Amino acid sequence: MRQVQWLVMKPLESFLANPLRRGWPMLLAWLLCCLAAAVWLINEESKTTREDFETQSRILHRLLTQRAEQHEALFAALIALERSLPQMSPELSNKTLQSFVASVIASYPQVTGVQHHVLDASTQKWNTPEAVSSPEQFSAALGLALRDGQAVMPDAQGFILLRKSNAHSVWSLHVRADRLLNADEQPLPGITLNLAPDAGPSLWRVAAKHQVWPSLEPLHFEKHLAVRSQPFLMTTEQARLPEQLPWSQFMARVLALMGFWGAAVFALTQYRQRVLAQRQLELAHASRINSMGEVAAGMAHELNQPLAAVLSNVQAAVRWLQDDPPEVNDAREAATAAAKQAKRAGEILQRLRSFISPQAGVREAVDLNEVVTSALSLVGESLQRRDVSISSRLADALPAVLGERVAFEQVMVNLLLNAADAMEANGTTKRQIHIETSCVAERLQLTVRDSGPGLTAEVKTRLFEPFFTTKPNGMGMGLGLSICEHIVQQAGGDLSADNADGGGAIFRMNLPVATKTAKAKNA
Ligand code: ADP
Repeated sequence: MRQVQWLVMKPLESFLANPLRRGWPMLLAWLLCCLAAAVWLINEESKTTREDFETQSRILHRLLTQRAEQHEALFAALIALERSLPQMSPELSNKTLQSFVASVIASYPQVTGVQHHVLDASTQKWNTPEAVSSPEQFSAALGLALRDGQAVMPDAQGFILLRKSNAHSVWSLHVRADRLLNADEQPLPGITLNLAPDAGPSLWRVAAKHQVWPSLEPLHFEKHLAVRSQPFLMTTEQARLPEQLPWSQFMARVLALMGFWGAAVFALTQYRQRVLAQRQLELAHASRINSMGEVAAGMAHELNQPLAAVLSNVQAAVRWLQDDPPEVNDAREAATAAAKQAKRAGEILQRLRSFISPQAGVREAVDLNEVVTSALSLVGESLQRRDVSISSRLADALPAVLGERVAFEQVMVNLLLNAADAMEANGTTKRQIHIETSCVAERLQLTVRDSGPGLTAEVKTRLFEPFFTTKPNGMGMGLGLSICEHIVQQAGGDLSADNADGGGAIFRMNLPVATKTAKAKNA
């Protein structure tokens, strides 16, 4: 847990303590995180796109191979039919051929025509029954088919496949390329498909319906159709388009990251506030304990007097009871006085206990004059030993303020000891502290003025900063005034400091008068 605090919490805490100065590396780290997430996302998405593209390409390849196999089967049937024709009468053979072609065209939508070409042995000319888009090319293709057994030539609508049957007979199959695939088998809009023989122009091309994004290389697939007599190369390409990138997912993740970041900052702020509050509580307690030395001296002095009175009263009572006859009335009076003094000593001790106790005190209507008297009873003795003389002008019938009595005493003790410290450190010969209380326009004011060195410009601005101290060698923790300010602010007031006219420092505590309703609410 401790390591976690040092490794994680402390750096983050320090970042939160000064986000402007230390914020940019964190922001940079965050941006890098976002960038890494974006790269990862795009990569993942590209993988999926590639897989989808390859699956689609393989499906297209299988379908086109199937169609090529159909063409093969057709040629085989035509050649077989041709062989049986001579045994038939010319009329029957013509009829048979026509009905076969009609059935082929009906069952294979891509086949738009079937023709039989016979080479006239005497003229060496082909009896080409129908005109084609390019008769010369067609004749050349027929010659090629006769030589090699097969040929292909592009046509306005697709391509013509030619297959040799015997030394003077060639069959041709007119294929309409855009019917090679059914409506539900067409390539996806982003894919470009091309079918071409190894040498020669394209037989069929379907262009993608998207614009290509030039900065990205398109996905590519190529494979020959798995039919030996039609080994056409099928190629597919798919452009990687910006709109195919997962922008919405990316934005969602960036937002999620931002949310996570916000939550982390919020949690850390909460954590820091808790730690600070805890620390402040501990320090307030420590500061009270620190003042204990001074306080104990004052206490000893305070207790001395009631205890001495108890002793002398009890001794007198014993003496009067030993008289003959015993002076019972006098003895009773002395015993009563002793009991009163013992009670006072008890109250003083109670005050000491509550002064050093760490728990929050009770809010009550407090008389500032009493706070002054009480604080002086705590540290008056110590101040006297340090040659500090105290004077005061306390207002009569001062209205009460609502707050913690002990906390106000702590403020007062702190102001008195600070004044004494400043005068001692400065070597002031005439060490004086003057305390005043007053009430003007529903505001109570308590001032503590000393005859010390006063406040330099730097001290004045940093006075209430926690841990700011000018006291040497750990003599001061620099927390006294920040705690005092906190206490006064808690009671709805403010604490300020200035240089007094005629030298020295003057601390002013301004507090609101406790209203009746506030008092009642608190009761
Ligand atoms: P600490 O007493 O531990 O130094 P404080 O918060 O009580 O912490 O005081 C902070 C600083 O304020 C002191 O170190 C001192 O420099 C300055 N200071 C406080 N009171 C006076 C005073 N009466 N005169 C001059 N300087 C003072």
